[in-house]
Amino acid sequence: MPADWQRALAVVAHPDDLEYGCSAAVAAWTDEGREVTYLLASRGEAGIDTIDPVDAAPLREREQRASAAVVGVSEVVFLDHEDGVIEEGMALRRDIAAAIRRYRPELVITLNHRDTWGGVAWNTPDHRAVGRATLDAAGDAGNRWIFPELTERGLDPWDGVRWVAVAGSDTPTHAVDATAGLERSVQSLLEHRTYIEVLTDEDPETYCRTFLTANAERTAARFGGRPAVPFEVFGR
Ligand SMILES: [Zn+2]
Repeated sequence: MPADWQRALAVVAHPDDLEYGCSAAVAAWTDEGREVTYLLASRGEAGIDTIDPVDAAPLREREQRASAAVVGVSEVVFLDHEDGVIEEGMALRRDIAAAIRRYRPELVITLNHRDTWGGVAWNTPDHRAVGRATLDAAGDAGNRWIFPELTERGLDPWDGVRWVAVAGSDTPTHAVDATAGLERSVQSLLEHRTYIEVLTDEDPETYCRTFLTANAERTAARFGGRPAVPFEVFGR
């Protein structure tokens, strides 16, 4: 994984996307003194069947902030696109480009933007939309003539994104050692307690540890035998 960077912006659709995907890597990065900011397109308000979106939105925002803090991330930004019906279009690209200009990351992280998980499970429209818009916005952010209204708002072009790393890809090209961050990634996912308690009858901590450990070990087989978080890295 590229190591010559200082700032990363992680852009996903929902609270818990980063915790299921890659927070062990985030923990390792913040340990090294790098700055990581989370940008969420929605508050995940449509994610819990038993809780009305009006109540779920602030609850999930709170859980996401706590979850980020566990892996050393203090800045969590919500764009307030509508959960479940996020549209891949100019409004989303503009919002993500604006954040890229504001936070000036060298590395942008997102989640699987393709149609399926592992070729067998259909991906959600929100993940596809946000992943693809993020890959696009990494370029938009550097061009002063795309979204000129952002420049008028004082957000100067940032052409410094060197890589976009996609977590949860079926075709990973790189990986980050998960050894140091694995336990914190479990605790970080566990902060989404309300969501997880509705999702599974298992003990929440057992569920989180089993899921994340199995993922990291599956990746180990491909990346030198150590538990790892895989990414598909697109250069720019
Ligand atoms: Zn999601």
